[in-house]
Amino acid sequence: MFPIERRNRIKELIADRHTMRISELSKILGVSEMTIHRDLKPLIDDGYITKTFGGITLKYVPVHKASEEHCVICHKLINEKLAYRIILPDSKIETACCAHCGLIRHYQLRDKAIQAICCDFLNQTTINAALAAYVMDTSLNIGCCQPQVLPFNLKEHAEKFIKGFGGTVYTFEEVMEKNNRNMHCKA
Ligand SMILES: [Zn+2]
Ligand SMILES: [Zn+2]
Repeated sequence: MFPIERRNRIKELIADRHTMRISELSKILGVSEMTIHRDLKPLIDDGYITKTFGGITLKYVPVHKASEEHCVICHKLINEKLAYRIILPDSKIETACCAHCGLIRHYQLRDKAIQAICCDFLNQTTINAALAAYVMDTSLNIGCCQPQVLPFNLKEHAEKFIKGFGGTVYTFEEVMEKNNRNMHCKA
């Protein structure tokens, strides 16, 4: 198999499974892990996949797959634009309907989670949840869980947003704390 064929095969595999280990790929394709690393390089550079501990994860999850998913916390059907995904060891991903449920689950899994991704509220791009800025207490109703938590890639965007719709901007750590404290109050 030529490197280009292998790369296409890797793309198919990862599109299907979302997360894979390097060792798995090396076994399936019958080449060394070093060769797999070389094959993955352009896919990582293109932003198609992200490297995780001992493996790779698809960056942009196909919409047709996601449409059948339900939130791990409240069991609502997943809307790709609001989804919050927690990447766990052993190729596991847990999906929440929005950052509200996502942060609750992320808090529960904080010792295990490798990474979490969500969708920028303005641009709909996939972002690293830990680096995002979050807006709470805004007047805009996104139609998911309360209290609402809206993720933004850039703090400036979040700040511009609250000028129009009101609310407060928080960092990941702050919003995690606030969101989970609210949960306790309700319980
Ligand atoms: Zn939910
Ligand atoms: Zn929700």
